[in-house]
Amino acid sequence: MTPFCAHFDPDLRIAPPLRVCSACVETGGTWVHLRQCLTCGRTGCCDLSPNRHATAHFHETGHPMIRTAEPGEKWRWCYPDDRLYEPDSGADEGVAM
Ligand SMILES: [Zn+2]
Ligand SMILES: [Zn+2]
Ligand SMILES: [Zn+2]
Repeated sequence: MTPFCAHFDPDLRIAPPLRVCSACVETGGTWVHLRQCLTCGRTGCCDLSPNRHATAHFHETGHPMIRTAEPGEKWRWCYPDDRLYEPDSGADEGVAM
């Protein structure tokens, strides 16, 4: 197993996540947790949220990876590889999550 899949970008250049899911704000929806697309920086809601905008964004755009947008959490998820990256896994040493 390679340390990173082909979608992993160790040098992210995206803005910090929003504190809201803008798609939910537009429709008056609610969310549980927030996730951020690592390709375009869009903030969406998690799979526990009724509208699952982060996963919907992946299906719409094919942008492969997200990270948590929750304070105190640091991990990334790759949809095509079903792969979780945690900062203490060793592989992510030196990578700013
Ligand atoms: Zn991947
Ligand atoms: Zn949402
Ligand atoms: Zn995106």
